Amino acid sequence: MIKFRAMKINHFQKNHGDWENFDKDYRLGLDYRLMYENAPDMYLSVNPENGKIIGCNNTLFKKTGFTKAEVLNKTVFYIYDPSCHEEVREALETFRECGRLENQQLMFRTKAGGVIPILLSVEAVRDGNGNIMYSNGCCRDISDRYRLQQEINQFAYVASHDLQAPLKSVKGALEVFQMMNQNIVNEESVELLKVVDQSLDRMTLLIEGLLEHSQIGKSFLKEKLDMNGVVGDVLVDLASSIESSGAKVVYGYLPEVEVYPVEIRLLFQNLIGNAIKFQKKGKVPMVAIEFSESPKYFQFVVSDNGIGIPEHQQSAIFRMFSRLNSPTDFEGTGIGLAHCKKIVELHGGEIWLNSDFGMGSQFYFTLPKS
Ligand code: ADP
Repeated sequence: MIKFRAMKINHFQKNHGDWENFDKDYRLGLDYRLMYENAPDMYLSVNPENGKIIGCNNTLFKKTGFTKAEVLNKTVFYIYDPSCHEEVREALETFRECGRLENQQLMFRTKAGGVIPILLSVEAVRDGNGNIMYSNGCCRDISDRYRLQQEINQFAYVASHDLQAPLKSVKGALEVFQMMNQNIVNEESVELLKVVDQSLDRMTLLIEGLLEHSQIGKSFLKEKLDMNGVVGDVLVDLASSIESSGAKVVYGYLPEVEVYPVEIRLLFQNLIGNAIKFQKKGKVPMVAIEFSESPKYFQFVVSDNGIGIPEHQQSAIFRMFSRLNSPTDFEGTGIGLAHCKKIVELHGGEIWLNSDFGMGSQFYFTLPKS
């Protein structure tokens, strides 16, 4: 380093003699270099033509345990865990097309045989003609967040899965009791048993909802899906409520988007299902699904002419088990919108609403283009 500095100073004195600025520029270069090497995030530069690693910082070596000689000139697949190689392949393709990637969740592997979940954002470095020369990627270690998320999901899965068995036993025992005592129990007892039975059904629904919530995000692969097809399938699933309410559901052309297929279907199912369900008795539900786009996002909106939501209650409805109406007016568990929020955030988008109480609601959500 010292030799290199002395050479640079010599060269500079000979050619320019501008000591003051040289030192400023040179120090600045060194400072940036130090910041780059020891930043809390890992940095990685790749030649997109052949996918080979052309540079990375010390933080990457420290965290993964690989050495410079092991990593440089290998293709990027070398440092990614095989479980996400398909996604890495797609990410490379997207980068070649768009010149950037944002918040893509992937897995590095470590030399010791472990994995590091990372959030990858990449920008292209271009030449004077705008052609991509190489990529500069920032890889954020999200192990803590990932572990916490896994623990929460695991807890929700185990709790809801294990609670189903005793619930089924109680329900079965109740049915047997009812059959055995048909002629003995009085009217009051029959009513009480009915309440117990209904509560058990409701608890089953809540537990199933919780289980479903813990499964969101389990599918690892995104697919390019035509949203017209997704909405069409959802409307087939909702056929009985559309028929019984006489609902009119309209949608124009919708785009193709890279999504997690099972989750995105659940998202539309909840939003369209709610738009049909939360309607005054005797009024025909009118539902519209539309989209607009910005350079980075597709924005969808599901609008209805239903009961609407008072402003002071709007922020609460995305919380799990949050319901604004009595179960006798509208059936439900209060999990649907919590699902929607988790699904949209899983895709890196946002969800929000506008609503006029008594007039209707518009549920908006965005999905990133890459
Ligand atoms: P659920 O439909 O099972 O009650 P959700 O989580 O889907 O649960 O919705 C939470 C609450 O938000 C609902 O109980 C309802 O009070 C309100 N809500 C959701 N969608 C609408 C809508 N389109 N119009 C009016 N209220 C709605």
